[in-house]
Amino acid sequence: MRRAASVRSVPSRRSYVPFHVPWTDHREIDQVSDSIRSGWLTTGPKVHLFEERIGAMVGARHAVAVNSCTAALHLALVVLGVKPGDEVVTSPYTFAATGEAILYLGARPVFADIDPITLNLAPEQVARALSRRTAALLPVHIAGLPCDMAALRAIARRRGLPVVEDAAHALGAAVKGRPIGSLSEMTCFSFYATKNLATGEGGMVTLDDRRTAEHLRRLSLHGLSRDAWKRYTRTGSWRYDVVELGYKYNLTDVAAALGLAQLSKFRAGQARRRLLARRYSRLLKSHEAFDRPIEEKGNTHAWHLYILRLRPGVLRIGRDRFMALLAERGIGASVHFLPLHMHSFYRRTFGYGSGAFPITERESARALSLPLYPGLTRQAQDRVVETLIDLADRHRR
Ligand SMILES: *Cc1c(COP(=O)(O)O)cnc(C)c1O
Repeated sequence: MRRAASVRSVPSRRSYVPFHVPWTDHREIDQVSDSIRSGWLTTGPKVHLFEERIGAMVGARHAVAVNSCTAALHLALVVLGVKPGDEVVTSPYTFAATGEAILYLGARPVFADIDPITLNLAPEQVARALSRRTAALLPVHIAGLPCDMAALRAIARRRGLPVVEDAAHALGAAVKGRPIGSLSEMTCFSFYATKNLATGEGGMVTLDDRRTAEHLRRLSLHGLSRDAWKRYTRTGSWRYDVVELGYKYNLTDVAAALGLAQLSKFRAGQARRRLLARRYSRLLKSHEAFDRPIEEKGNTHAWHLYILRLRPGVLRIGRDRFMALLAERGIGASVHFLPLHMHSFYRRTFGYGSGAFPITERESARALSLPLYPGLTRQAQDRVVETLIDLADRHRR
């Protein structure tokens, strides 16, 4: 019996619903071909056009492209002068990159616990995490749902602290009509392969201050004097000067070509994500095993992720077993995120144990992200929903 059932549950290739599928077509192929024909492979005209367009879209005066959001976060903290001994207050409910950027500078990530509904930093916890050594706040907009920026900015203003946003999930999000990317000293975006706008690898810092933008640009290319990227063109000069210690973080034109193609359909992609996310919420509404993610009135969710949570006490099985059963049925799901402070490096280095950030730990342990991307069909989404409901019904307490 068991054997037959498990054989039947092996997914066929056709019915597999992947967790992520890139949204690429002839537009990306044409743009990249154009780069190759033009002879510009690394930083050049397409990077500059891509910067202009992202800056305009998020309402920032300047946009500096780099080769990842990790690099963007790192450089943002460099230009703020974050140094060894400083503290940066951030969320433990995030990806590794957020903590790394702080640690690269010898500064310490000081975690503040999250709000159990939004999964974003709880402002009152941020206020409690401040010290004389706090150099910046680094909020993360989890799944694309904007943080409580009014409260976070008020805390920052009172203490004269800059805010750098980890907006890796939040391109297209907005707070009361103001796009994420225009609200803080600096905002960092990711164009990693699975993000809402994907260039394979890529990132961007958006900001209003011109001198800081120039500094970021210089740091992204070895600390070379201005316009060094033009040094192989007719108008450029072979002479350059290393003005300061920089990094090799510049974005390539080939990546920017992908970005321009992705931008041309970004609005449509966001609309599709919103539609699918609302449809998940509608279809899963009546089932008591699931807590669904929220949207907030007046704010725009970027819907990078649809994070479902298993309601405690309803099922006989935990999240990990539930995920394993989903995988057996051919549904690609994932977890965002395992708490950063619980990873072995953080435990070893900072001595964190379980219970350090109880809300983060509790919510992470019951979270699972469902497939969500513009190419997800209604039929595939129906299969995800039917499978979720069937598994929940079978494993009800
Ligand atoms: C993806 C991600 C990053 C890092 O982005 P890269 O472009 O891959 O460096 C940073 N923060 C969060 C929350 C992310 O999900």
